[in-house]
Amino acid sequence: MSKIAAQYTSEDVINRFSKLVDVIIVVDKSTDKYRAVIRRGLFTDLFDEEGDYNELIQTLWIHLNTTSEKLPEGYRAFLPNFGTFTRKYSRRLKLVVNEGEKAHIVQMMVYPLVDEDAYMLIMDELDSEENEQENQTYRKVETIEKTFLFSMYIDLVEDKTGSLNISEISEEDVQAELKYTDWRNMIVNVIGKDDQALFLERSDPDYLKKMFTPGRTSSFDCLMQNLEGVYIWVKLIFSRIDTGDPDDYKYVFMVQNIHEEATAMFTSLKKLSDMALTDSLTGVNNRGRIETSAKNAVKEWKEGAEPLSMMIIDIDFFKSVNDEYGHATGDKALKQFARTITECFGNEKVDIGRWGGEEFVVICYNKSVDEAVAMAERLRSTVAETPMYEGKNITCSIGVAGIKANDRFEDLFGRMDKALYEAKSAGRNRVEAG
Ligand code: GH3
Ligand code: MG
Ligand code: MG
Repeated sequence: MSKIAAQYTSEDVINRFSKLVDVIIVVDKSTDKYRAVIRRGLFTDLFDEEGDYNELIQTLWIHLNTTSEKLPEGYRAFLPNFGTFTRKYSRRLKLVVNEGEKAHIVQMMVYPLVDEDAYMLIMDELDSEENEQENQTYRKVETIEKTFLFSMYIDLVEDKTGSLNISEISEEDVQAELKYTDWRNMIVNVIGKDDQALFLERSDPDYLKKMFTPGRTSSFDCLMQNLEGVYIWVKLIFSRIDTGDPDDYKYVFMVQNIHEEATAMFTSLKKLSDMALTDSLTGVNNRGRIETSAKNAVKEWKEGAEPLSMMIIDIDFFKSVNDEYGHATGDKALKQFARTITECFGNEKVDIGRWGGEEFVVICYNKSVDEAVAMAERLRSTVAETPMYEGKNITCSIGVAGIKANDRFEDLFGRMDKALYEAKSAGRNRVEAG
């Protein structure tokens, strides 16, 4: 018959296990130092005979996670091993001693000792047959691990957390004594910087009390460091337990890994928002986007700052292309025309957009009107030399304007549009500045 909680002495444990297991370690709770009574097999060189308990846990944890990275400090709150055990605890570790090698399955047990301010930590490598079964179990557990990283109970009245476990199906609860308020202050360090305020707001005891009627569940998404120190998207779920007593404030907290779905969703969102800002025919910025950028550039410009210029480009006699070759050929020419602009200004700091029809606007950042005229002239001659449709060339006229003190967008645009009109009137295939 096994003894009940906290009724073991070190002698009991050593007698019972010394011939059977690979490791027996005594941990002094008051000094956080450990001493290995027995170290055999794969454990011989894994850790020193004596040392710091926290470092031992780090070592085990590192191997458990198949990486040589140190466990992020904030993550200690996720480790029951850092808590205070009040009852026997046992779990199986997957221990990878050398990266890339097969995992050893290790049974770990913690016995809080009676009459001594210490734990006895026991570890034993399971044989290959057990190992195989365990690997199968692990595969199942890993699937769960992928989605549910962590769960625990919270009691706000007692300011306590309980049954901490890291994504494992532990055989027994960990009776770790960690105050909820302390836990919260630790965890915030592994939350993404931009989400820390949100986390503190939503995990605040007063918030949880006020916002959660018994049985209510609510969640929010944020970035959180995983055990390897990499930020991943997680869903943090709080659920208030309906105990039947309205003065109870007991909750279940769970961390769900939603990284894959979240990243896929962000990719789609990015595509959709890009689509909303892009001209579907030519692929350059659409009218709304280029107009906003142009207005912002004017608004943000201050006298004495870097110069700012813009140009408007209009294809000459484009109507005749449609009339002679059809709309589809016209579209092809427009695409090629936009590509030519993009390539021509590839090395410049510009924003290019389709203003409408066969008109394009280019914002030339940090360019004086003379520099922008030179750019426009380069574009004009490139266009004139580039076949755009059916091996044929087209020409364009360009109006350029530079920003002046106290310009509103309309003023700058007015001068640029007037310059374009002048280029057209003067015979087309020209650049004029206003
Ligand atoms: P100008 O030298 O005075 O600019 O002559 P233009 O023919 O280019 O000028 P106008 O503004 O009269 O005609 C522009 C034409 O551009 C009208 C329309 O047929 C054509 N256009 C506008 N948008 C599109 C489009 O998306 N696809 C095609 N294929 N043609 C378009
Ligand atoms: Mg036009
Ligand atoms: Mg035209």
